[in-house]
Amino acid sequence: MTVTSLSEIISNPSCMDDYDPNSMPVAKARQFIKQFLTPITTTEVLPIRESLGRVIAADILSPANVPNYDNSAMDGYAFNSADINKSTELKVIGSAFAGKAFVGGIQAGECVRIMTGGMMPKGADTVIVQERVTVNGDLIQFSEAPKPKANVRYAGEDLQLGKTVLPVGHMIRAADLGLIASLGIGEVSVYRKLKVAFFSTGDELASIGKPLQEGQVYDSNRYTLYGMLSRLGAEIIDMGAIADDPELLEKTLLNAAMQVDVVITSGGVSVGEADYMKQLLAKHGEVMFWKVAMKPGRPLAYGKIQSSKDKHANYFGLPGNPVAVMVTFYQFVREALLILMGQINPTPLPTFNVICTENIKKQTGRTEFQRGILFADSDGLWKVKPSGAQGSAILSSMSLANCFIVLDESIGNLDAGTLVKVQVMDGLI
Ligand code: AMP
Ligand code: MG
Repeated sequence: MTVTSLSEIISNPSCMDDYDPNSMPVAKARQFIKQFLTPITTTEVLPIRESLGRVIAADILSPANVPNYDNSAMDGYAFNSADINKSTELKVIGSAFAGKAFVGGIQAGECVRIMTGGMMPKGADTVIVQERVTVNGDLIQFSEAPKPKANVRYAGEDLQLGKTVLPVGHMIRAADLGLIASLGIGEVSVYRKLKVAFFSTGDELASIGKPLQEGQVYDSNRYTLYGMLSRLGAEIIDMGAIADDPELLEKTLLNAAMQVDVVITSGGVSVGEADYMKQLLAKHGEVMFWKVAMKPGRPLAYGKIQSSKDKHANYFGLPGNPVAVMVTFYQFVREALLILMGQINPTPLPTFNVICTENIKKQTGRTEFQRGILFADSDGLWKVKPSGAQGSAILSSMSLANCFIVLDESIGNLDAGTLVKVQVMDGLI
């Protein structure tokens, strides 16, 4: 499914096999978007702490073996495994602590008191743990010898000199910070932050701080978007709530597109709706409008907006309904943004099957993303139940949820006790 350009598919949709903008399967919409994403290439060098959550722009190679030297994994006595079958008694000739090596080597019949992390003395290759020996003056005795090379951490066992430790495209997490520090590396080359602007559209929207007039609703989409984009580590520009006024929308759209990599709007992209946004997007860019076979989140638009001759931004037009905004963000925008940030094959949200403890109502022919609560039942097993009313404007059930119950197109009504697919949404909510 490769097309040469967005304009080709917009002007001549029939050039694509089974492309139907009015009935777009979820997986296909995701695939479509993917082929038009060009990851950012600008890089910057950051001190390691600041690189948390950023995407690596140059392979990090190990400048040394980690650990750097053979050392003991336990508190005990280091000796040569050649002694194992010869004697059950060894003479203690010195000690080795972490950071304080034993000077010299050991001979047959000798051992060195060694602590965890202590450097293995020359001639020693095995450690017997202290609990297994009896100390008698400067002698240790044991009844059962360890296996040769037991309880030793060998140089390069964790990382080998010159090997790639973390590849380009990897997003840095807490363990990676420690890993990078363990190599003695203090700075990391990462891609710059992805810049994302968003605004809400609708005459009915009021901003916080103003009393609601009749027929108005407070704009909540800009707040959920702010939350989800912050969690993804984007640089955010909030352009406000914009009334359905063509001039204002045009100005805001172009102003946004000029400054950022991605513009996200909510509201006003329904297929068939006589809407200013659609006309504007057709004038300033190449945007595909879909009815996705899903609930919530049916209308969706993706494309590019041209803000000047050589500058364009990716565009996502999300539905207006508050839950639909979050669902479409999770299902389409999240992965796209991670790719634009430089991640190679971003890890999908964890998805697995669990028993649903309640009946579920569902129509076939579309994918539903119901909001669910994963919980540990009294039998100790994790199960799921719907988090409440499932209307696409009902944010309270979204706020209670910690997962989506993903019901594929072929699934109809389900009885309590059925296995269902859940997708964990933690981390973005
Ligand atoms: P639309 O997609 O513009 O037709 O909007 C669909 C529904 O979502 C309408 O009920 C709108 O009032 C509501 N809606 C649109 N934008 C927002 C927003 N930013 N915050 C809360 N509700 C919204
Ligand atoms: Mg609207």
